[in-house]
Amino acid sequence: MTYPMTDEDRAIQEKARRFVDEELIPHELEAEMNAGQLPRDVIERQQAKLRELGLWSINMPRDLGGTELTSFQQVLVSEQIGRVTNGLGWVLHTGPEWAVGVFTADQVDRYLKPMVAGDKRECYAITEPNAGSDVDAIEATARREGGDYLLNGTKWHVTSFNKAEVVFFQAKLAGGPKAGSHALFIVDIPSEGLRMVRAPAYSHTYADQHAILEFEDVRVPAANLIGDEGGGMDFTYAWFRYERLMIAARCCGAAERLIEEATAFAKERVQFGQPIMSYQAIQHMLADSLTELWAARLMTYRLGREIDEGVDLKVQHAHCSMAKLYASEMANRVADRAVQIFGGRGYMRENVAERFYRELRVDRIWEGTSEIQRNIIADQLAKRGAGTLAG
Ligand SMILES: Cc1cc2nc3c(=O)[nH]c(=O)nc-3n(C[C@H](O)[C@H](O)[C@H](O)COP(=O)(O)OP(=O)(O)OC[C@H]3O[C@@H](n4cnc5c(N)ncnc54)[C@H](O)[C@@H]3O)c2cc1C
Repeated sequence: MTYPMTDEDRAIQEKARRFVDEELIPHELEAEMNAGQLPRDVIERQQAKLRELGLWSINMPRDLGGTELTSFQQVLVSEQIGRVTNGLGWVLHTGPEWAVGVFTADQVDRYLKPMVAGDKRECYAITEPNAGSDVDAIEATARREGGDYLLNGTKWHVTSFNKAEVVFFQAKLAGGPKAGSHALFIVDIPSEGLRMVRAPAYSHTYADQHAILEFEDVRVPAANLIGDEGGGMDFTYAWFRYERLMIAARCCGAAERLIEEATAFAKERVQFGQPIMSYQAIQHMLADSLTELWAARLMTYRLGREIDEGVDLKVQHAHCSMAKLYASEMANRVADRAVQIFGGRGYMRENVAERFYRELRVDRIWEGTSEIQRNIIADQLAKRGAGTLAG
């Protein structure tokens, strides 16, 4: 056992593993060859199975219809989900946990409850042509007009827009006492003035697209402002923390699958009269991969527990960056070695290593690039010291 866990934790982990093995992995190739798409009935069966297993909306409170797993248990589930390619794991929808206690009663009824139930899906429109890592450079605006806001701006890489009913739109306030500060809005899809410019092709083969959107005088009622004017960045940071932890977990799952598959292949593949597993060059690639996976997993599991224990938010913020940085870089190294071990087969799209090699690359970019994670970690180191962050 890599890390101490209760019987309940172990049971949740095993349930998630079985779901991935039986319901998702068998559909990877079909998805790869069909632009990431699976037939409607397959997705509905997967969703029904998740509900039956108690793995529906795992990050949401029970009184809203979620399963309310601990952060550690969510890490265990996400890790298993990370073992599958083609974004098929996204069938496990985890809604905006940060919205709990932030949304008004009206927003909970109109948006949050349907999201938890799976009737509405959300997407995030934060990044812009001139504002990626530097979120504060966004040029999108929100101008108050009577009981409404008028939203304008261009947004890039909006993941899952093609599957969503709601988009969270981040803008700077134009005019009013909080002019220039950030605000986050709920926008219905479709809305007048909201237009998809295009859905570019990306490296991975996912059914969820990453759209470029144009917001031109999109009118939303003031009731769709999230929290207060000026509070926009707080929610974005909360979402970043959650996603960075779950990316770390998924990267651990991906690395485990790659190591298992590459090891099985190396034991079978005979060249020069011997299984390639007997060659030290191959052994060392697998040994390095396994060692790095263990380190990443210990960090990620510990962070999950730390969040459950209510450790200081700034420390959590730094640790989410450390886990995401290390686990995503680790998984990319593991994928590179796995392709090498599979040889020419590792370059075929039907091979799991080839797909992960492409898919894991984005984990070093989205939710803050590796460079930005390092900036956050160094900033926290300067403020809090090594003893607090790695003691
Ligand atoms: C597949 C995909 C899905 C995405 N989904 C969404 C989404 O749903 N919603 C959304 O809003 N955004 C989304 N994004 C955007 C993503 O968050 C950004 O791509 C990311 O934050 C980096 O911004 P950028 O691409 O503009 O790169 P830039 O910020 O232009 O960075 C370019 C390079 O410069 C480096 N750099 C920048 N600043 C510094 C610095 N201070 N120090 C050192 N190096 C620096 C970066 O690390 C990077 O290497 C998605 C991106 C991708 C690829």
